[in-house]
Amino acid sequence: MTGTPGPVTGTSFVPGPHLLGSPRGRDWPRPPAGLPTGLPAGRDEPPPSADVVVVGAGPAGLAVTSALWHHGVRDIVVLDRGGRACGRFFARTDRLGQRVLRSPYEHHPGVEGFRDCELLDFARLHWGRLTPVERREVRMAQAGHRSVVPVDVFEAYCEHLVATHEVAEKTWRAVVREVLPADGEVVVRTDRGPVTARHVVLCPGEERVAAPSSWWGDGPVPSGVTYWDEPATPGAGRQVVVGAGLTAAHLVSGALEAGREVHWVVRAATEHYQCADVNAKFFRPEGRARIGGVPWADRLELFARYRRASIMFEFRPALARAEAEGRLVVHRGEEVTRVAAGRGGTVELRLANGRLVAGDDAVLALGTKPEIGLGLLPASAVGARDGWPDLDGRTLAYARAPRVSVVGAAAGMVLGPAARNIDGHRVATARVADAVARGLRRDGVFVDALPRSEVGAGV
Ligand SMILES: Cc1cc2nc3c(=O)[nH]c(=O)nc-3n(C[C@H](O)[C@H](O)[C@H](O)COP(=O)(O)OP(=O)(O)OC[C@H]3O[C@@H](n4cnc5c(N)ncnc54)[C@H](O)[C@@H]3O)c2cc1C
Repeated sequence: MTGTPGPVTGTSFVPGPHLLGSPRGRDWPRPPAGLPTGLPAGRDEPPPSADVVVVGAGPAGLAVTSALWHHGVRDIVVLDRGGRACGRFFARTDRLGQRVLRSPYEHHPGVEGFRDCELLDFARLHWGRLTPVERREVRMAQAGHRSVVPVDVFEAYCEHLVATHEVAEKTWRAVVREVLPADGEVVVRTDRGPVTARHVVLCPGEERVAAPSSWWGDGPVPSGVTYWDEPATPGAGRQVVVGAGLTAAHLVSGALEAGREVHWVVRAATEHYQCADVNAKFFRPEGRARIGGVPWADRLELFARYRRASIMFEFRPALARAEAEGRLVVHRGEEVTRVAAGRGGTVELRLANGRLVAGDDAVLALGTKPEIGLGLLPASAVGARDGWPDLDGRTLAYARAPRVSVVGAAAGMVLGPAARNIDGHRVATARVADAVARGLRRDGVFVDALPRSEVGAGV
């Protein structure tokens, strides 16, 4: 469902803003004793070899590691900069004060096709800890409607997956510098030593989009300007927020709640309100077929058309009210061309129409960009075209490096705009885990595969 701002009429769909607030930091029951929940102490260097190396322990890396567990693949090394499963995801949401996910209960990094605990099962098991609003959302999910998932529930569920699929004990804190495909193996070079693997799954997620250097002229980035994923400048007075997506909406809302006046620069003609961040059809097989089965130029066009910045509907009433009350000024259809230090420690943003917007500080939320393997793999192995890697559509392996595959945003030209979402990771994971497990069997590596019905990571 989509919409643009305007008077709220009797027929408009405006879900209650109360859905945006859920408690954070509740005490969830820990996973059963004996299961590891964190990095074992004293493990500095990853082992020199493994059947599979997973690069990145975000929701995508967690999904693929859990799925490989069900396939009977146990010799896995997960390498992550922060060393904690989904650490970057929760650091980002917490920095923004985000209390609920945008994706519904069906979208989760748990494993489908095996006996496992899904996110909705997990929430129902912990019914007694949920607020009345959260319980209603669980019922919505059970009835097949769109639902809102608390970040708190999602984090507890991710911890559950980590424990039940033995992910923590496979995870090492390491920065991966290079991924070098060789004959029958892949060498992964890290700041803590190399790991040689039969297969590598890249799950590095997305990096924030930086402002063009022309914004700063010849000077440095003025103090008082930060990006959305950096520690915020503690400030008062007027804040300027640049960007049109959910991240920007969280920043604007947070500043308004803190009693600040906000100027919001939105490049599009108007901000766009929508439940999910891509059209719901792209979460379904027929939507994915629209991307996978069409010529390259059409895929690019579809992607550009449907992958636009948007904000959850629930934000609209509070933002519209703040604008009407003059606490929020929205500069719609305006583009920043220059950012400089102003008088008295302020920040000045010059817009394309010549107008100047000044604030006590400014936060930039210009979106994120998929890591497609460039900078890790040799460029010839990535085979980048229009910013996308050359992937085998069935296995999501690099066409020119078949022992390396991807789960995450980089699969966009195969799975469509939902590739960057948790649901897209689920679809990619099923393909990649299956292909990797088959590859290991072909290699003659022992895989302790149990019949599907016998495998379970129960609650
Ligand atoms: C604020 C915010 C809210 C979002 N909310 C939702 C939502 O509600 N629903 C949804 O479906 N999607 C949401 N998304 C999109 C979301 O980013 C993805 O669904 C999810 O985080 C992607 O998981 P990932 O594992 O691909 O990437 P990440 O979560 O970014 O994890 C990648 C990991 O790989 C590590 N890494 C990268 N490169 C290296 C390297 N060279 N060496 C070692 N480690 C490395 C990173 O440090 C990170 O820990 C949100 C995104 C943001 C920014």
